[in-house]
Amino acid sequence: MAFCRKCGKEIDDEAIMCVHCGVPTNRAAGAPADPNDTVNPGLIVLSVLVPFVGIILGIVNLSGGKKRSGSIYLYIGAAMLIIGGMIGVTSMMMMEMM
Ligand SMILES: [Zn+2]
Repeated sequence: MAFCRKCGKEIDDEAIMCVHCGVPTNRAAGAPADPNDTVNPGLIVLSVLVPFVGIILGIVNLSGGKKRSGSIYLYIGAAMLIIGGMIGVTSMMMMEMM
C-alpha cells in the first residue's frame, strides 16, 4: 500500500493518481516501482543458456559421428552466442543506467 505524497491518504500501489485529491503518483511520473520491471532476468539467463545448449548439442552430435547435424548445432550455438552476448551486454547497460 502506498500513500499520497500530497494528502498522505492511502492509495493503491498500482494507482497512477490519488483517488482522494487527484495528484499523480510517482508511478505516473515514469519512475519504475521496481527495477526488475524493466530488465527481465530470464532474458539474461536465456542469453547464456541458449548458446550453451547449442554448443553442447553440436559437440554431442559431432562425437556421435553426426558431422552434418553437429556442425549445424555448432553454427546455431555460435550465432546464439553472439546474439545472447549482445542481449546480455544490453541488459547490463540498462541496469547500469538505473
Ligand atoms: Zn492525495
